[in-house]
Amino acid sequence: MSAPEGLLIVYTGDGKGKTTAALGLAFRALGHGLPVACVQFIKGRWKTGERLFAAHFSRLTFLCMGEGFTWEGGGPEVHAAAARAAWSRARALLAAGEHRLVILDELTHVIRHGFVPEAEVLSALASRPPGITAVVTGRGAPPALLAAADLATEMRALRHPFEHGAGAVRGIDF
Ligand code: ATP
Ligand code: MG
Repeated sequence: MSAPEGLLIVYTGDGKGKTTAALGLAFRALGHGLPVACVQFIKGRWKTGERLFAAHFSRLTFLCMGEGFTWEGGGPEVHAAAARAAWSRARALLAAGEHRLVILDELTHVIRHGFVPEAEVLSALASRPPGITAVVTGRGAPPALLAAADLATEMRALRHPFEHGAGAVRGIDF
């Protein structure tokens, strides 16, 4: 965070910990009084712990894809539209440069599904203002994104309780 130009950080891989790691950075940056933005490219209906926690911090802007949309139950086109709308909010946040840390949670899926062209994402990341650290999380980060990253970490699954039929645990998985 003290890097003068800011970093492009990517957390990818099939193991648990990508979103958690990004949220850990948010915790750290907020502790130093730095403004943080987080856009989650997933269904906004879930009351995740991070979303509930975020409401307590004025310096933390927290957006979930699907907020303000009646897209649930919709087809792929509705999903694509929600993803594009979330991306346009995220791109504006990045360009504004008001948040020192901008988390783009699960953005890799938006690229993989072709909702937003990869080149457009890379260009927005590359042209962000100096001093802004961007964090992209999600499985299957495309090679060009990894190549552009200053810091890339792959979470590799060794074991996960889901394999034995366990469900998502409140406070651990959401
Ligand atoms: P987290 O949000 O817990 O940091 P993540 O961001 O690394 O997880 P995602 O790929 O976004 O993982 O998956 C989201 C959900 O899938 C989480 O509830 C997580 O616990 C679960 N999950 C993560 N890794 C695995 C795995 N290897 N096998 C099964 N489920 C997993
Ligand atoms: Mg995640």
